[in-house]
Amino acid sequence: MPALQAPIAVAQPAPRRSRQARVVWGARAVTVGGDAPVRVQSMTNTDTQDASATAIQIRELALAGSELVRITVNTPEAAGQVPRIREQLDRMGLDVPLIGDFHYNGHRLLTEYPACAEALSKYRINPGNVGKGDKRDRQFAQMIEAALRWNKPVRIGVNWGSLDQPLLSALMDANRRRAQPWETRQVMYEALVTSAIESARAAVDLGMAPAQVILSCKLSGVQDLVAVYRALAGRCDFPLHLGLTEAGMGDKGTVASTAALALLLQEGIGDTIRVSLTPRPGESRTREVVVATEILQALGLRAFVPSVTACPGCGRTTSTTFQELARQIDEHLRAQMPLWRAQYPGVETLRVAVMGCIVNGPGESKHADIGISLPGTGEAPAAPVFIDGQKALTLRGEHIASQFHQIVEQYIQQRFGSAAAPRA
Ligand code: SF4
Repeated sequence: MPALQAPIAVAQPAPRRSRQARVVWGARAVTVGGDAPVRVQSMTNTDTQDASATAIQIRELALAGSELVRITVNTPEAAGQVPRIREQLDRMGLDVPLIGDFHYNGHRLLTEYPACAEALSKYRINPGNVGKGDKRDRQFAQMIEAALRWNKPVRIGVNWGSLDQPLLSALMDANRRRAQPWETRQVMYEALVTSAIESARAAVDLGMAPAQVILSCKLSGVQDLVAVYRALAGRCDFPLHLGLTEAGMGDKGTVASTAALALLLQEGIGDTIRVSLTPRPGESRTREVVVATEILQALGLRAFVPSVTACPGCGRTTSTTFQELARQIDEHLRAQMPLWRAQYPGVETLRVAVMGCIVNGPGESKHADIGISLPGTGEAPAAPVFIDGQKALTLRGEHIASQFHQIVEQYIQQRFGSAAAPRA
């Protein structure tokens, strides 16, 4: 008889221990940090001066699952359009909070365009781009004064591409005087973390509530990001915005972002995430939101869309039927989510399996809420469907795909519709 050894602990992300910020627009408050879910955010790439194009892209990002959307506010003209963007979103019934991204002239724009400062729900401040010399502290203070006046949280967003150079030089000098100097990379880490935490403390000294200060320290290397965020999380309890900056395009950007964010989120580090992907020409900006939601869903931190389990296929299945069905189901479920979120509460937890043959098909389908095991090469042309772990029926013929679609829709209505009986 096989014996039970010591129980293997179930893996799960470590608890987070940050304070909790509130990013508010109208009646909507998106909490960040503490026991709030890890929030997804994104950033537009339209010209903010083009209020209509920007509002349309914000809508796309919000419908894809972005709970906060950042926009560049780089010129007086852009600042002048921010209230127009907000009005357009409000007319669309979209209460997604907007974050203004400021560099170099944020102190002026937030002071000279009060309607812009009011329409935004959070300000991003880059300590490396606030100003030089004796202007730096004054201009930083002006931005914090605007945040206090309009009761907005801020993100102190340090980026290694625009690191505070006087601070870095001072730390480099101090390092040279050490008996055993650190690696240059370690001094760079220290400069990033110090810049973020000292700026946050300066904001608190100017009157910001500590919970209303969110920090980020973005780098483009996975191991660099992990090292810096571990240090940041160890040294402070400000809510943390997490993201690999300039992650790149396509598979490279997706994999690098996923590796970095997954490692840190598993350690309980990160309260809101952004995936910084470079879109291919013509590619939807929503790709970065989809990747962010998939990272959180894969880690079991949140559920956004029903998950589709599909096998990779192999020599046992030579037709593309199951690949097409898996793609169709996945795309259909994702496309319906903006509607279903309100219509079928909880539908995002649904698990669907589309499998290619008898080897793992029935087993995997039983683990899902609803699954289908398509016939592999040489198998009888029949596709058993499993619902809640039990074989419910067998589909045959040319219309297996459309029939399975209908079965999934019926299941969703019965289980998640308003007339659904509560499940034990
Ligand atoms: S379930 Fe069947 S078709 Fe799919 S990968 Fe496994 S053996 Fe191959």
